[in-house]
Amino acid sequence: MPTDLAKIVTTTDRYNFHAHTQFCDGRDSMESIASASREAGLIHLGFTPHSPVPIASPCNMDKERVEEFYEECDRLRGLHSPEMNIYTSMEIDWLGPDWGPHIDYFQNQPLDYRIGSVHFVPNQDGVLLDCDGRFERFSGYLKDGYKGDLRYVVEKYFEQVLMMLERGGFDILGHFDKIAGNASQAEPEIEHQGWYESLVDDVVSHAMTAGVVVEINTKAYADRDRFYPAVKWWDKLRNAGLPLAVDSDAHVAAKAVAGREDAFSLLRSVE
Ligand SMILES: [Zn+2]
Ligand SMILES: [Zn+2]
Repeated sequence: MPTDLAKIVTTTDRYNFHAHTQFCDGRDSMESIASASREAGLIHLGFTPHSPVPIASPCNMDKERVEEFYEECDRLRGLHSPEMNIYTSMEIDWLGPDWGPHIDYFQNQPLDYRIGSVHFVPNQDGVLLDCDGRFERFSGYLKDGYKGDLRYVVEKYFEQVLMMLERGGFDILGHFDKIAGNASQAEPEIEHQGWYESLVDDVVSHAMTAGVVVEINTKAYADRDRFYPAVKWWDKLRNAGLPLAVDSDAHVAAKAVAGREDAFSLLRSVE
């Protein structure tokens, strides 16, 4: 039965649909994330390893481990039901029209829901570079991989997000302006540019057409005092009537629900 995410996120705050564990680049076990989440009062928890990808990437789950991941989801579901519902999912990487949430491989997986996210952005030669992660690495890619053209990277990133929305096949749009985390360190004014805002407007209208839940990702809040998407875009999302899911994107049990309360209070204050 498909999970009615929109209904859950609009009726309770006690969920988290984005968490990483030992199956990808998370540093704690599924079991410890589940325990921490339950202690924090969650009644819905989704596990979302970075999906398998057909390129070398240390952050992504190996295809060979997918079955083991499903078995661990089933075991924890048994342990925590009925107090907390455990959902089996993946944060699926969009690499282009040949690899994304829409392809048969992911559509045929027994997932309760799917997150679609962009981390890899092709450079001018079509080489995919992982623009997520630390600024030091991004800065090197920008200089050597993207010929120093920051606007190119940002526009290319959003182009990937838009193409992913057009292809569909997923339920939650993950951290849709994540590129701004690194791009704004290279150029602090970038999110104030008119061309940038129109890219955000394009995402909002594509998300409406796609009928997805839009994530507010709280992973960077404690360290960088920002959410993805940035608070300045929340009005656009709400005016569009898009359901919003506040997710911690936890990679450690200690941060199972980090930043979520802050995001909820901000959401309530701008209502
Ligand atoms: Zn992500
Ligand atoms: Zn994630």
